Amino acid sequence: MAEAESTVINTNVKQKDPNEALVIAVTTRAIFNLEEEHELFVTKGKEAFVMHQQVNQDKPLEQGTAFAFIQAVQFVNEKLLERNPEEKGLFDVIILSNNSPESGMRIVNSAKQHGLEISKFCFVSDEDSTQYLKSHNVKLFLSADRMDVCNALQRGVSAALIFQQEVQAPNTQLRVAFDGDAVLFSDETDRIFQEKGLEGALEYERAMEAVPMGEGPLKAFAMHLGEMRKKFSQESSPIRTYLVTARSGRDMGIRAIKTLREWGLPIDEAFFMDGAPKGPILSQIQPHIFFDDGLHNIQGAQGIGIPSALVPCNC
Ligand SMILES: [Mg+2]
Repeated sequence: MAEAESTVINTNVKQKDPNEALVIAVTTRAIFNLEEEHELFVTKGKEAFVMHQQVNQDKPLEQGTAFAFIQAVQFVNEKLLERNPEEKGLFDVIILSNNSPESGMRIVNSAKQHGLEISKFCFVSDEDSTQYLKSHNVKLFLSADRMDVCNALQRGVSAALIFQQEVQAPNTQLRVAFDGDAVLFSDETDRIFQEKGLEGALEYERAMEAVPMGEGPLKAFAMHLGEMRKKFSQESSPIRTYLVTARSGRDMGIRAIKTLREWGLPIDEAFFMDGAPKGPILSQIQPHIFFDDGLHNIQGAQGIGIPSALVPCNC
């Protein structure tokens, strides 16, 4: 394989210490609406795409699905710095792109025009851009490319797939909603459910009640977010975290709660939906991002404008 080429543009945003910061990497198609441009790339080829991006380099791109989440993350940084001007444990946002640097100027300009604090823009020509995630200490990766997301998960980085959608995100504290099984937790109980049905899953849960569940693909990110959350009191926190699970509280809630406690993961509110649709509760929460491994849950959330990210389970 040819050696990967990469161009990293450091912006004049104050550099954060990658060992202490909570680094989030988003791809250009996750943070901006590049659907038209992507279509042009696919149908007319790279040259036409590069030309289009160069001609339009001063025309800002519209907001994509992950935009509101990144904006809310910046709001948390402001609050962290108000609390402690020397704070090192800040969010650090990187944009990762398969675009070449010559077509990337529009991305850099768009981020600037929208007032986004992006510390690094990485324009990588390699097909598997996720090889850079570990070296940048990335704790969450959001991409519109399923292969990218699977590669990241296989590298042990919390990652989720973003689809272009209409977004109605509030201008409030950062709100993050997680599904339980196969997202925060491992998919062990899901697998029993698929093999043995609800009765089998209930029996398994009763037998395993005292044993914490395994780690799911988003656990690492949730733990880092939880550490940040712990710096604030509940009333003053610029971060709110939610668990929205299909588990029933009565039969399957105990093990979930015990696991969160064992991990020391602070969750502000937990909803045990007992298999009911998650849409109504999500529309009340109004999260900036909702992580789930079920496509039907993602589609339900998208239908009401909730920015959603699929954690694929069959990579
Ligand atoms: Mg699930």
